[in-house]
Amino acid sequence: MSSRRRTLRNTADLLESGLIRPFQAEDVARVAQIYTVALSTAVADLIDRQDEADPIARQYVPSSAELIDTADERQDPIGDAAYSPLKGLVHRYPDRVLLTPLLVCPVYCRFCFRRARVGDAEATMTEAELESALAYVAARPDIREVILTGGDPLMLSASRLKALLGRLAAIAHLDVIRIHSRVPVSDPERVTAALAQALSRAGKAVWLAVHVNHPRELSSLAGAALARLADAGIPLLSQTVLLKGVNDRAEVLEELMRGLIRHRVRPYYLHHPDLAPGTSHFRLSIAEGRTLMRALRGRLSGIAQPTYVLDIPGGAGKVPVGPDYWDEEAGSVTDPAGRPHRYS
Ligand SMILES: *Cc1c(COP(=O)(O)O)cnc(C)c1O
Ligand code: SF4
Repeated sequence: MSSRRRTLRNTADLLESGLIRPFQAEDVARVAQIYTVALSTAVADLIDRQDEADPIARQYVPSSAELIDTADERQDPIGDAAYSPLKGLVHRYPDRVLLTPLLVCPVYCRFCFRRARVGDAEATMTEAELESALAYVAARPDIREVILTGGDPLMLSASRLKALLGRLAAIAHLDVIRIHSRVPVSDPERVTAALAQALSRAGKAVWLAVHVNHPRELSSLAGAALARLADAGIPLLSQTVLLKGVNDRAEVLEELMRGLIRHRVRPYYLHHPDLAPGTSHFRLSIAEGRTLMRALRGRLSGIAQPTYVLDIPGGAGKVPVGPDYWDEEAGSVTDPAGRPHRYS
């Protein structure tokens, strides 16, 4: 593509591109005052404008449902602040830290658990802040992994990203640098062969977890971006958020997970949605999630099975929420078809 079209950033852009109707404009403008709005062209191109319930539109086009906050929702749903010793750093688990060099993204997901904070260009870490965060990691040999997240870390310029990787690679006690990114889907052309090379030659093992929620997001452009990463030797994982009206059917999840392994991506986590403000229209129950996971166990290859996890509200951590197949009291185990078997 020679000329890159412009990202859609406001109500007027959304109206002009046909993604919202005039009667929705007022509510969408109110939403945009609270939460950042952006749709990259790669994502906007995936939307079927004829389909009122399009699962891609539901994830990325703002709607009046976001104006509804429920009592259990929180600005900081998973309690990052309580575990943040320094700006841009979250240290909840002994062996790994999150580093958020910036809080901008090519597209702003309407379900984002950091939605109260993302989109703020001012939140990009300064050189001095980055220096302090790296010094914190360097001084703590228990930290074995640094996870770059945000915002989207692949929004850093190639030179800043390379410089950051170089500084992390110089910390001897780190084993792994992990990058969490939606860019292979949201702006796949940013993932150039040169970027993939830079990641694979970082001087440490770099793992990349791609965020993707619906099989249609694995477009040919996204597939090509994932191929550039896999060909460069980057181990690829995925994270998916379970979202009502997007991927809450076994057929959809199955197709997504099959698409991922076809693109050499190992499904990692299926996240139960967090209690982010204005997201109740996306939430389903853990019982519903467990039923979907059971269906996947029955119909999908073991290498395509994600782990279903909940980030406990308030900051207690991330844990698998089943389903479990072993019933200790009954001394019985359930097979993939749902039949119990005694085992002693
Ligand atoms: C999710 C998260 C991690 C990564 O957890 P994994 O289970 O290793 O993927 C690390 N630190 C924090 C603070 C997190 O929220
Ligand atoms: S790309 Fe990630 S950080 Fe950015 S808005 Fe979406 S979920 Fe949030």
